[in-house]
Amino acid sequence: MQNTQKFIIKLFPEIMVKGSSAKKQMIGQLYSNVKTLLEKIDKNINIKKFSDKIEVLTPTQHTDKVRDKLLDTPGIETLLEAIQFDNMRKLDDIKKKVAEVIAPKLEGKTFVVRAKRSGSHDFNSVELERVVGGHLKANSNAKGVDLHNPDIKVMLELLENQLNIITAKYKALGGFPIGTQGDILSLMSGGFDSTVASYLSIKRGVKTHFVFFNLGGNAHEIGVKQVALYLWNKFGASHRVKFVTVPFEDVVTEIFHSIPSSYMGVMLKRLMLQASEKIADEMGIDALLTGESVAQVSSQTLRNLSLIDQATDKLVLRPLAMMNKPEIIYIADKIGTKHFAESMPEYCGVISQNPVTHGSYKRIEKIAKQFNYEVLNKAVEDAKSIYVDEIIQNVNEMASTQIVHTLNDDDIVIDIRGKEEPVNLNVKTLNIPFYKLKKEFVKLPKDKTYLLYCDKGIMSQLHAQYLKDLLNVKNIKVYRPN
Ligand code: ATP
Ligand code: MG
Repeated sequence: MQNTQKFIIKLFPEIMVKGSSAKKQMIGQLYSNVKTLLEKIDKNINIKKFSDKIEVLTPTQHTDKVRDKLLDTPGIETLLEAIQFDNMRKLDDIKKKVAEVIAPKLEGKTFVVRAKRSGSHDFNSVELERVVGGHLKANSNAKGVDLHNPDIKVMLELLENQLNIITAKYKALGGFPIGTQGDILSLMSGGFDSTVASYLSIKRGVKTHFVFFNLGGNAHEIGVKQVALYLWNKFGASHRVKFVTVPFEDVVTEIFHSIPSSYMGVMLKRLMLQASEKIADEMGIDALLTGESVAQVSSQTLRNLSLIDQATDKLVLRPLAMMNKPEIIYIADKIGTKHFAESMPEYCGVISQNPVTHGSYKRIEKIAKQFNYEVLNKAVEDAKSIYVDEIIQNVNEMASTQIVHTLNDDDIVIDIRGKEEPVNLNVKTLNIPFYKLKKEFVKLPKDKTYLLYCDKGIMSQLHAQYLKDLLNVKNIKVYRPN
């Protein structure tokens, strides 16, 4: 019986082509990231570092969790699942072992055996492949061997006397290990663009902190915190990062007061960059990140982006600059942030009547001088910074939602997990996925109390708070079974 699952982590090719010291440093960082992440699952998971790979040995009860985590970890190119057998020196033992594991999977299929070998043996890899292949053919119901286009590729690694039979191969995230590329501050509004931009930055190995400008409304702030937490948990949890909230209501008021309507949009983005620059400086961060994309909206024409960019000397990265909206949405869907973006509330932003599409350098220079920068400085002074892993606690402090542990007969539970079958709790349970809550909740009878349910009782807390603020209602609680 096999009760240990082995994973072999192959590194991103851009890491492998680096010089030996850079490569060593990156593998070291990936090793430490993987260790940090898997320790959260179980301290007994064993991780070993080699010059060109990392191996993970986990008790089989964690196989799915470990696989999912590794597939979302930047720096990993390919993930192999293997079964390891020791004391495998003789061809005879090897071929029998492989047949024992693999033969049942070959029924009716064509196959080929591919082997990698290192160490000293009295046979070479070609012989190994041939002998194992022949034995498999004779001892299975396979259709036959096909060297070029097989249904199944039986992959073996023989390292001295350790035999690894590869049972699965997955394409992973690629990118660089977080911690190898410094820090960035991402201007995060929770829509499609800024979340995808943040994801690309995390995947590239950059430690990505978030800054959010609150233009009015707790609901938007909670919504953005939700998606930042989701993104960090999924792809970036090897490192702690900050979430900074800047109160921008007064800045918006001052814009209305002092800036011509056609330039309000451009001016708002300039002020966001200027505030972000100050915050990044305080944090010792060299670069800013936005989800801006050429031609997407009037403030993102090349000319207007140039006017916005002039507001700061800091490096501003815009990874989506040349991407089309469907491409961006495709990524959002793949990484699971699409639903968040769709349910993000519209903030009462600075909506110019007739926004300028080709602003003037002279005019913006003049207009910018009319703004009272004390208002901006005050906003930055009042900014609140927390760690992303403190978001749940922080949202609860903003106004806490009651948590209920046992149900009464007339309680109505809303299962927000978006699973096809709602959880069975012996009381009335509605199945409304979180991204439909905003639309569906208003249709429910108002005289009842609703208890939101999810797996861990964490997302339900955020969503309850979000709904309460957004819809200004009180009849929402969280259900968390004991
Ligand atoms: P998103 O980028 O999240 O899809 P959006 O497209 O509505 O939101 P734009 O108005 O196009 O945002 O703004 C361009 C960029 O400016 C965003 O991608 C984001 O980086 C930044 N930004 C806009 N609003 C905010 C905000 N309230 N807080 C932080 N950054 C913001
Ligand atoms: Mg946008």
